[in-house]
Amino acid sequence: MLSYRHSFHAGNHADVIKHITLIAVIEKLKKKNKPFVYIDTHSGRGLYDLSSDESRKTAEFEQGIGRLLDNSTGCDQIVIDYIDYVSQYMQSTPPMYPGSPSIACDLLREQDKCIFMELHSDEIAKLKRNFNKDSRIAIHHRDGFEGLNACMPPEPARGLVLIDPAYEVKQDYADAIKALKQSIKKWSHGIFLLWYPKLARQRDRSEQLKNELAALPIDNLLAVELDVEAQQAEFGMYGSGMLIVNAPYQLDTLLEPITQQLASKLAQDANAKAHIEWLIEPK
Ligand code: SAM
Repeated sequence: MLSYRHSFHAGNHADVIKHITLIAVIEKLKKKNKPFVYIDTHSGRGLYDLSSDESRKTAEFEQGIGRLLDNSTGCDQIVIDYIDYVSQYMQSTPPMYPGSPSIACDLLREQDKCIFMELHSDEIAKLKRNFNKDSRIAIHHRDGFEGLNACMPPEPARGLVLIDPAYEVKQDYADAIKALKQSIKKWSHGIFLLWYPKLARQRDRSEQLKNELAALPIDNLLAVELDVEAQQAEFGMYGSGMLIVNAPYQLDTLLEPITQQLASKLAQDANAKAHIEWLIEPK
């Protein structure tokens, strides 16, 4: 039984760092004319109404994209472009926040392809309604971990995968590692982005996840993290990160200043910080 709904969280600090990283990788791939594929294993519905009861109940977007809209002074161009892009959705009626499928759909070119997967029956219905008419996009109602393995290696053989589980069950950690292990074997030069939460001490598994991924036979692994407040003992998500397998050339130098800017703009207390680290250095 899946209970997680991304509509409670859309546009929060974790979405901001995830989506800016995603945009940065897509823009790197677009530097060549060659087609590429974008695979989203946990797509959600793709588009979120920020005036919905769910969104207003938590108001998480106010501490994420909301803070940036109010203050983008001193930010790098990629952050300003992201804010301008999201603003177009937020100025609609009702105000919307674009999830990862929208970002991919808007940024990819005619020659590129997308594969979206989603398991929840309500979310997949909305995802299909939002994107079915686009011939570049294939949408699958299935388990994203198993679906990823099934479509490896993809065609075209150039591209990226976003693995963005809700981690509402602990099994998601093991499943993410297993899916990556299997996929990398079949598609060794694919770019894989795995999102992970940084949680209260009693529940946090981020260090273990990083160690397990760093033990896989891969060429390079970059960790990009944004903490917005201090870690608590029992509850809450104080930050999040992206693990990037086969990170494009100079992604680290591109993201370094941006994540520092985000840490200062999205800080909820004095412990906010950004951290970028090669867990496996490029050869
Ligand atoms: N990637 C989206 C974005 O950035 O806009 C947000 C995705 S949300 C964090 C996680 C989604 O995964 C939820 O919509 C949930 O229903 C879905 N989900 C949960 N378990 C899944 C599974 N095993 N396979 C595919 N989707 C799953």
